[in-house]
Amino acid sequence: MSEVHKHGERDVTDIRDVPPPGELCEAIEAIVGPRGVITEALEMAPYLTDRRGRFEARAPLVARPASTGEVREVVRYCANAGIGIVPQGGNTGLVGGSVPDESGAQIVLSLERMRAVREVDPLDFTATVEAGCILAEVQAAADRAGLLFPLSLAAEGSCRIGGNLATNAGGTGVLRYGSARDLVLGLEVVLASGEVWNGLRRLRKDNTGYCLKQLFVGSEGTLGIITAAVLKLFPKPRQVETALIAVADESAANRFLAHCRQASGDAVTAFEYIDRSCLELVLERIPDVVEPLAGRYEHYVLVELSSAQAGADLRLGFEQVLEQGIGGGEVLDGTIAASLEQAAALWRIRESIPEAARAAGEGIRHDVSVPVSRVPEFLVRARAICRKLHPAARVIAFGHLGDGNIHFNMTQPEGIATAEFLAPERAVHAAIYELVASLDGSFSAEHGVGRLKRDELLRYRSEVEVGLMRALKGTLDPLGILNPGKVL
Ligand code: FAD
Repeated sequence: MSEVHKHGERDVTDIRDVPPPGELCEAIEAIVGPRGVITEALEMAPYLTDRRGRFEARAPLVARPASTGEVREVVRYCANAGIGIVPQGGNTGLVGGSVPDESGAQIVLSLERMRAVREVDPLDFTATVEAGCILAEVQAAADRAGLLFPLSLAAEGSCRIGGNLATNAGGTGVLRYGSARDLVLGLEVVLASGEVWNGLRRLRKDNTGYCLKQLFVGSEGTLGIITAAVLKLFPKPRQVETALIAVADESAANRFLAHCRQASGDAVTAFEYIDRSCLELVLERIPDVVEPLAGRYEHYVLVELSSAQAGADLRLGFEQVLEQGIGGGEVLDGTIAASLEQAAALWRIRESIPEAARAAGEGIRHDVSVPVSRVPEFLVRARAICRKLHPAARVIAFGHLGDGNIHFNMTQPEGIATAEFLAPERAVHAAIYELVASLDGSFSAEHGVGRLKRDELLRYRSEVEVGLMRALKGTLDPLGILNPGKVL
């Protein structure tokens, strides 16, 4: 046995007596069975492929436990043997957090076989699900019970609820329902010690000491392995209005958001910004998308309002807000969807932007947030930075304006080689992150830190904050076996 039992004294990377691959496979297979282990290179490839292709990853095996007990036994074995564990859900994360490093000394622990919806309770308005449940399956289970699970993002067909919680995923409904953090009542977590914390409570109120579940939400697999969760459900909307509105400028978008929120009694579910460059990229690259309005405009917002009450009052109220917006000069033009198909077509424009950008080539991307009131200033100044540092690049800005979260990206223009396009990347990142910091913002609003943004965490979070994070990590994972090299 290795010396890892001397708790807290050594990092997993110091341990030299990691078992040889054959012995490791046998031991893991003895826990999870033959279906629970993958060792063939071809079969392992999807688990070792970072979504953005930025990181090399190697692993001796992928473990696929089918129960919390099996996860616990795998963790106990790895703790004893000094092996790093990389928890993985749908592997849709965008910061290199869900794949191991290139050392070949860490295993992937995929939760994909733990995908049961254990219970949907229409009186408690809760769903109890296993961590490997695909987000769309959770939404469908709630829907079958006549309820709504409001977390929604473009990767919902493949991301898994454990991953959503571990990254505190946001998406399009945050303005109304909050992020994953706000949607969880209870968690079950396998700790680095191999103990299982059963916190699967469905309490709306519980002030008994520290809120442990929130430690694990957003911790990107570095503090514990989430195996199940109790999620909040909501009444299903009966009225939904979706509109694409052209606004005069960035500030007009902000003022229009405030009017919509006030006038609708906070029925705004989504408020997504789309600039002209995004729309053009989608028109160029995505089949069957047409210019949505008669004129061409520089700034658009996709607005969705919803209400759980039946009737037509939402539409009437929305039309009034639009008229006021036109009168006030904020709104230039717009269309309200007359059918579910039209609403889907408007959403398709927004949801296709990442796909259209990928089709165009490489990207320089920022997933940042600033206070909502400062989004206009951010957009104007960030565009000026890009014009100066990378005049050839095509800037596209879109995202969750209602949450102050903008995806501020640059795409590779035709005729420019990838290396040339990416050359100023570091300088652009640095300038944009400095701007964000000067506006009291965050360098990572949704996607997290993973392996990609560790330097930024150290730079933009205070010593006190980083010290607290290190203390938590040291307490919960003294041997550093959980997702080594991520976040901190
Ligand atoms: P993975 O990618 O597998 O893992 C992500 C992190 O969580 C890793 O650090 C991993 O180790 C950890 N982890 C996974 N499962 C567990 C577990 N059970 N216990 C502990 N740790 C675990 N994100 C947003 O927030 N909002 C968006 O709107 C959004 N849109 C996206 C659109 C597209 C097209 C894509 C590809 C991604 C998007 N993302 C978005 C990012 C990504 O989908 C989310 O971060 C998602 O929540 C990750 O879930 P996953 O199951 O794929 O996790």
